[in-house]
Amino acid sequence: MFRCAVFRSVVSAARIKNPHKMPIKRIRTKPCDRCKETNDVLYRVRIDESQRWIFVCPSCLEQVKPGNPLYQYGGTWKSKKRH
Ligand SMILES: [Zn+2]
Repeated sequence: MFRCAVFRSVVSAARIKNPHKMPIKRIRTKPCDRCKETNDVLYRVRIDESQRWIFVCPSCLEQVKPGNPLYQYGGTWKSKKRH
């Protein structure tokens, strides 16, 4: 009876160690260059005279875009590719 209980605990421990094999989905996200928050949609923009392309999230775009004469839009980056 005791042995049986030990065996059962070993089996359940092994099950915890090796759960159902699930394919690990790779979530591609990028951090925003301004607020450092990761987002699955980012805008590639230039916002100053450094002429450097940065990636900003939609909410940061709202802050850097209005009235910015140096603002340039270079595309949208999305974590999920559409097919
Ligand atoms: Zn941001």
